[in-house]
Amino acid sequence: MRAATLTLTEAAEALSLWIAETFADTIQGEGPSTGVPALFIRTSGCNLECRPWCDTPFTWDRSRFDLSRERTRMSVAEVAAWALARPEPLAVVTGGEPLMQQRALVPLVRTLIAGGKRVEIETNGTYRPYDELVATGVHFNVSPKLGNSGMAADRRIRDDVLRAFSAAPQRAFKFVVCSPTDLDEIDGLVERLALDQVWVMPEGTTAQVVTTGMKALVPALGSRGYRLGTRLHTLMWGDERGR
Ligand code: SF4
Repeated sequence: MRAATLTLTEAAEALSLWIAETFADTIQGEGPSTGVPALFIRTSGCNLECRPWCDTPFTWDRSRFDLSRERTRMSVAEVAAWALARPEPLAVVTGGEPLMQQRALVPLVRTLIAGGKRVEIETNGTYRPYDELVATGVHFNVSPKLGNSGMAADRRIRDDVLRAFSAAPQRAFKFVVCSPTDLDEIDGLVERLALDQVWVMPEGTTAQVVTTGMKALVPALGSRGYRLGTRLHTLMWGDERGR
């Protein structure tokens, strides 16, 4: 029988995180809080491989990056102290896939919220959130991956997990779209899993590609009930890292 207490390894994991980068002096560029001044905590590691367009491959792609140089082990206390010393009202925990390290996210998010921050977690929707994490009051921006990511559906879509997020009190769903025809795939997920608060945003790492993609999506939105999102940081800074 498994002991009720944490092993030493589990206890260490609960107190520290693999971090790719932290940065501030920016805004939330995507989803419902677009435009809110924000700081970012980017965790390292991802369970998916969106090879055609992932804009943070330095968090997971060992074939192109030396991850030992691209990540640092930081304690929850260190990360929280950095964030709480910043003036931005919103802390965005992103990745990679942050929920791979959610044992440590629970105390981190609790500390940030207790310190007066709003917290959003960006997730690919393949890890079920712990009840303790949902209970912190964190907002989840859930971004399930479509076929345009190049991966098989059974790897990128977990119906049970997406239903769990759908039942969470604070969440929105956000899809990266490469072509208006991708909306048909979103329709199927929305219908099957009864998703609401759905945002669609174009793929792109330049202002021109993002605005062209947005314009192409408008006629296809029709009465679907989705909101068109952008990548505000990309419109301003392109693919500059730390923005
Ligand atoms: Fe990149 Fe996100 Fe896909 Fe992971 S889930 S490979 S971080 S786009």
